[in-house]
Amino acid sequence: MTVRVHFLGSGNAFSDGGRANAAIHVTAPGVSLLLDCGGSALPAIKKHVDPATIDAVAVTHLHGDHFGGITFLVIEQHFAGRKKELVCAGPPSLEQRLRATEQALYPDFFGPVQLGFPLRTRVLGREPIELGGARVSALPIRHVRLAEPHGLRVEVGGKLIAYSGDARWTEELAAVSKGADLFICEASYFDRDDPAHISYKQVMTHRDEFEAKRIVLTHLGAETLAHLSDLELEHTTDGTLIEI
Ligand SMILES: [Zn+2]
Repeated sequence: MTVRVHFLGSGNAFSDGGRANAAIHVTAPGVSLLLDCGGSALPAIKKHVDPATIDAVAVTHLHGDHFGGITFLVIEQHFAGRKKELVCAGPPSLEQRLRATEQALYPDFFGPVQLGFPLRTRVLGREPIELGGARVSALPIRHVRLAEPHGLRVEVGGKLIAYSGDARWTEELAAVSKGADLFICEASYFDRDDPAHISYKQVMTHRDEFEAKRIVLTHLGAETLAHLSDLELEHTTDGTLIEI
């Protein structure tokens, strides 16, 4: 079975290079799962995909460029007449942070208006759960503690997709990628040593330890974008489609 991994949004928090925040659409027959839904994800989604076809969102951590677009997706789907459930799964505080975001952005809607479809929140952890037709588990990685970061392992159509979210190098990141058919790894920086993000150079240093069949870089910041011609690994831009 072919699994499609469509990078609708491939950018970092600052939209360097004019790229949209993280939004990675994984599809296969019976599967429609969005990995992250950053603040600017909705216009990026709408360029390629009918949002109504998205069944679930798996969130890597609670930073706006990874979950800030969910509220826009929800309100858009309400007015688009959605009836089908939307499931959002992520770190333990996802539900609380979504409710806070709703109240910050549209208090006149969330609460006073009955949402036209069921919106459910789930917590991801080591035990895989069924999500958007895939099986998804999450393992802890190191980024910024308050964002409750984890990496994702997505089993779909007999394939394993691993996703770093935002993470600095630790052996925990290698546990996320181990055995993956496709490892989606952030590369905010080219060679900068950062306490919250892995760099391209560090990805190359630890390439074998990831034990992934294929590595694709996303979440490229300005420093990495300035070195595109030096990258020996596949990398994404908004709209990049990978089939595995
Ligand atoms: Zn980020």
